[in-house]
Amino acid sequence: MSTAANQRENKKSGIKIPDHPALAGISKPTLEKLARLGISRSLDLVLHLPIRYEDETRVYPIKEALSGQTVQVEGVVVNTEIQYRPRRTLVCQIEDAGGTLVMRLLNFYGSQVKALAPGTKVRLLGEIRQGFFGAEMVHPKYRIVRGDMPLPNSLTPVYPTTAGLSQDTLCKLIKRGLAENDLAESLPRQILQTFKLPGFKESVLFLHQPPPRVKLQQLAERDHPAWRRVKFDELLAQQLSMRLHYRERRSRVAPALSRLGQLTQALHEGLPFVLTAAQRKAIEEIAGDLSQPYPMQRLLQGDVGSGKTIVAAFAVLQAIENSYQAAIMAPTEILAEQHYHKFTGWLEPLGVDVAWLAGSLSKKQKQVALKSVLQGEAMLVIGTHALIQEQVEFHKLGLAIIDEQHRFGVHQRLALRIKGSRPGLQPHQLMMSATPIPRTLSMSYYADLDVSVIDEMPPGRTPITTKLVADNRRAEVIARVRDACVAGKQAYWVCPLIEESEALQLKTALETHSVLKTTFPELKVGLVHGRLASREKAAVMRAFLQGEIQLLVATTVIEVGVDVPNASLMVIENAERMGLSQLHQLRGRIGRGSEQSVCILMYQNPLGEAARARLKIVFETSDGFEIARQDLRLRGPGEFLGARQSGVPMLRFADINTDIDLLEAARNAAERMLKEFPQSVELHLQRWLGGRKDYLRV
Ligand code: ADP
Ligand code: MG
Repeated sequence: MSTAANQRENKKSGIKIPDHPALAGISKPTLEKLARLGISRSLDLVLHLPIRYEDETRVYPIKEALSGQTVQVEGVVVNTEIQYRPRRTLVCQIEDAGGTLVMRLLNFYGSQVKALAPGTKVRLLGEIRQGFFGAEMVHPKYRIVRGDMPLPNSLTPVYPTTAGLSQDTLCKLIKRGLAENDLAESLPRQILQTFKLPGFKESVLFLHQPPPRVKLQQLAERDHPAWRRVKFDELLAQQLSMRLHYRERRSRVAPALSRLGQLTQALHEGLPFVLTAAQRKAIEEIAGDLSQPYPMQRLLQGDVGSGKTIVAAFAVLQAIENSYQAAIMAPTEILAEQHYHKFTGWLEPLGVDVAWLAGSLSKKQKQVALKSVLQGEAMLVIGTHALIQEQVEFHKLGLAIIDEQHRFGVHQRLALRIKGSRPGLQPHQLMMSATPIPRTLSMSYYADLDVSVIDEMPPGRTPITTKLVADNRRAEVIARVRDACVAGKQAYWVCPLIEESEALQLKTALETHSVLKTTFPELKVGLVHGRLASREKAAVMRAFLQGEIQLLVATTVIEVGVDVPNASLMVIENAERMGLSQLHQLRGRIGRGSEQSVCILMYQNPLGEAARARLKIVFETSDGFEIARQDLRLRGPGEFLGARQSGVPMLRFADINTDIDLLEAARNAAERMLKEFPQSVELHLQRWLGGRKDYLRV
């Protein structure tokens, strides 16, 4: 209901935006339950749409109802009794004009027995089954028919709910929501016409109360025009907010880091390899961004081993040429230390001091490092989460780089940026990730970022051969590892992932290590796991890199970033427990040299269906993009992105895997609305994102 009272003046545009009523007069416990469903405004009730429907608009003759069909029937109780075999059951026989049916209730109260006395008229909704004694329904939804009880004239919605909140209560609240909100059209007529969309009000009313003759299937598959409208709206809100976010970033200020070239040129000349075309392009794109007076927010994305680190080094040097510091944060100490060695190797010859910050430093070492960062002697600082701790202060941070960005939470990424900010000035930010983003994701959840892609591997890599081997052929695997190591190669042995218990995972790793040590008395077998002190971890990795260890038993801590080119064999135990992207990342640790590499995925039979599907994909393809696409398809965007970490509100109705046409349409519509209909943009965002519009993407 739109009244003058609930319109407020929007200062910027001078346009009337309806004020959405709050959730008034609802008890606190109910409010809490609603909040669990994402409902915090009255309008959210309107946007809380059914997951399915029940058809109570029609009554079927019992005789005509087919087995397996969910239908409503109506009849008179002819007999009600409690049977005790096989367990206490209320058995109630019901008869209509042409047939009879048995209703069975396994959980019931005495009052129900009474209410279902012979002669009572009842309506049942449930699945009909042809049992031994004829048609029956087990635990149908039933109601007693008293007097003249008309059939409803719309399908009955079933809403997603949460423990303690009944369908009835939710239904009533939603009805109220529908009545008290202004459901005015948020989209301009031109947009509705271009994309052939029905009206908003009409669509939500339809979805809450569909008329009787609608095909349940079309509703269930969500391709009814009303569903398409809702999904379009949702995607449009996402597009609009991403674009506004993008624009807003351009209004902030960052140091314009000119392309001076002294240091970058020197790095170029000293490189032991030739950059790939994809690397050169990424370096170019980043250099262009850095020279702008507003903060870069770019994602550098490239499959494992595609050579992202050197690209980061060019960016670092551009900052340093302009007398600004750079920082690189990595998720594990192993990886951070590896970066530290690489960067000192590249930068020290150019006269650049690199500082190292990690949890494992002694107090004294830490103080020295902190001081050199604060005073600007160290122009590059590399570390783990230690970089965002309180004591760290930068002299003048111009560029923050986050490696394996998906391993960090939103707040950690933000913390580094805030740390490096000075009044009115923000550092540029480069995020790196080896998890490729499928196109639909980059069009949706990542639409506010600039993305550089390295889609080409450095030359000279031989493709990895992947083998699937059942656990009972362990002896063959062991022989293979021995042969490889004796021939001077190195191998990883990855222990099973045990998600439920870190302690158990550690135990397994220790056991595996001791078993393999006895199995291979002639080899040097090392062990690395997450519980090892950082110093020990680093020592093991160094020994492996230098070839002192031939076989490295490891937990999934080696999943990200580790680079030991001579390692060309990997055994992964219980590969069926791991996710697609994880397997791909692990496998990416080999195939880094010119040696033919082999990855053996050991699995335990019997394989579940999902596990079988995953292993098949990893076996068949080594293309990170394809694997990411499949991973997204199997797990959905919430899991794929790590909803908690992405900081982006998830889509509730649209599915980016199947609604690609709507996604494209929403993208076009967003562009047009921002240009031609700014007032509709406000209204639309208010309706769909409300207070959630200011999400963090950092
Ligand atoms: P990732 O993209 O997984 O972070 P890295 O940056 O660790 O990959 O690079 C993997 C390996 O490839 C490193 O040993 C690196 O020195 C090497 N490398 C990077 N670029 C090239 C290139 N253009 N030619 C040859 N080797 C390269
Ligand atoms: Mg890397």
